[in-house]
Amino acid sequence: MNISFTKSGRLKPKPSSEALGFGKLTTDYMFIMDYDAGRGWYDPKIVPYSPIPLDPSTCVLHYGQGIFEGLKAYRSPDGRVLLFRPEENARRLNNSCDRTCIPPLDENDILEAITELVRLEKDWIPSAEGTSLYIRPFIIATDPFLGVHPSRTYMFIIILGPVGNYYPTGINPIKILVEDEYVRAVAGGTGEAKTMGNYAASLKAQDKAEKLGCIQVLWLDGIHRKYVEEVGSMNVFFKIGGKVITPALSGSILPGITRMSSMELLKKHGYGVEERALSIDEILHAHKTGTLEESFGTGTAAVISPIGELLYKGSNYMVNNGAIGPVTSMLYDTLTGIQSGRLPDEFGWTFEVK
Ligand SMILES: *Cc1c(COP(=O)(O)O)cnc(C)c1O
Repeated sequence: MNISFTKSGRLKPKPSSEALGFGKLTTDYMFIMDYDAGRGWYDPKIVPYSPIPLDPSTCVLHYGQGIFEGLKAYRSPDGRVLLFRPEENARRLNNSCDRTCIPPLDENDILEAITELVRLEKDWIPSAEGTSLYIRPFIIATDPFLGVHPSRTYMFIIILGPVGNYYPTGINPIKILVEDEYVRAVAGGTGEAKTMGNYAASLKAQDKAEKLGCIQVLWLDGIHRKYVEEVGSMNVFFKIGGKVITPALSGSILPGITRMSSMELLKKHGYGVEERALSIDEILHAHKTGTLEESFGTGTAAVISPIGELLYKGSNYMVNNGAIGPVTSMLYDTLTGIQSGRLPDEFGWTFEVK
């Protein structure tokens, strides 16, 4: 791919790592590539970060034909720049394209676009523990047309921003609301694709959870309101009676790369992982009988997030007395260690940007 480059006249000051938070800052440049039904994907370019003008009738603004990805670049102690399984993000981006009638990209082009931009912006990668450069690739439908129809033009854009901890509270156990009124997705819908609309659908429940003092929502399935699915933007795991259980990918759950990696690590550490339907009743029963040992969410943004308390139908249920359990901390330490190059990567998961 021949990526053209426009130099920025003025660079932004780099923040100190204490001030990072999540999603507040963007870097100096962005990648853009256009699509037209006659030409395919064309004109890849890296340009100064700036607003993009859109016609008020633009497709994505009305019907939400848009998808995204999220991954991170890490600075290793010896100064290397590492990505974590980026080829999985490229593959998933194309799966999300397929579900939303967006024309697929060449997965090598996606990786090349990410690595070119990250290489250019490598001075933005913070090095303090728990920090990284968040990478947000996304695609929007750009036809100026109010009819409901797949767009004939698109933009593929990548933006970057330095990040610290996802939750202001750091890696502390979170309290979550088990949501039995609103649903995120059903099989046959768009739950297994990373579409923008899934997030629009989640906001009302998230708002309710925050009002009840919770940080996230634990979604139940949309048909029986009984089986656990995901926690906000994370996949979810429960450890019950020595066994680690995560909901099977039933069509309404996003197939997380952190989920998949956690399962591989758990197997290596001798834990059987059951991928199956897990009902809220089974979890509450385990709580009652003292076998609910740990629970955590997995996702790129927060990596591993311990769950310390559930709120369900007005009652509170503590998990592991609200403390971080041993499996949760093993996964957090191992994953963040591999991702940031502090631990050896025997799986071949890291991808160095040279
Ligand atoms: C992105 C996302 C995840 C986590 O996926 P990772 O690849 O682990 O970052 C989980 N659930 C939803 C709804 C998501 O959008």
